[in-house]
Amino acid sequence: MTNVITLVPAEGRGLQVEYVESSDLPTPWATFRLHGFVDRTGGREHLALTLGSVADGEPVLARVHSECLTGDALFSRRCDCGAQLEAAMKRVAAEGRGVIVYLRQEGRGIGLMNKIRAYRLQDEGMDTVEANQHLGFGDDERRYDAVKPIFEHLGVGAVHLMTNNPRKVEALEALGIQVVTRQPLVAGANPHNHRYLRAKARRLGHWIPI
Ligand SMILES: [Zn+2]
Repeated sequence: MTNVITLVPAEGRGLQVEYVESSDLPTPWATFRLHGFVDRTGGREHLALTLGSVADGEPVLARVHSECLTGDALFSRRCDCGAQLEAAMKRVAAEGRGVIVYLRQEGRGIGLMNKIRAYRLQDEGMDTVEANQHLGFGDDERRYDAVKPIFEHLGVGAVHLMTNNPRKVEALEALGIQVVTRQPLVAGANPHNHRYLRAKARRLGHWIPI
């Protein structure tokens, strides 16, 4: 079904997520299938990585990862994103079956340039929540609406979700995605991100042992 185009209007904001194409993606841990999607309403390009048969009706080991260019691609130790992504990919590879949705919403949804502005404010002493609020944003601007049509396209209904974020579990369940279990994903703690992880735990309610 590689050339099938699906247009899936989601309730609420007229979300249109279009499936574009799939290919192999060899990685150090497994050769995943890489699937491309475009959110026509916001123009964002999202990705999904799958391994094994995810459309067989059984709950799927899953990660919904929001883009963090600095952490995922530039090895930043200010956060734990790159380590979490790598840990999730390794876990899916070990299991031989799973899905990782990669949502292009940088910096908890505030965008890359604003994230640098927020980092500057954190360099001067604010925590991650204070910095986003100082710039006029909510403490977490991420949306997960696109996950529903992506999962529908892939045939995924129920998941074992790798996350430490209670808001993400709530958001996915509100979209009608069944979160059968939550799998903790603790990786990448280091001296540089201790304050950041503590703020995520204390101010955003993340389940992170600090
Ligand atoms: Zn990050």
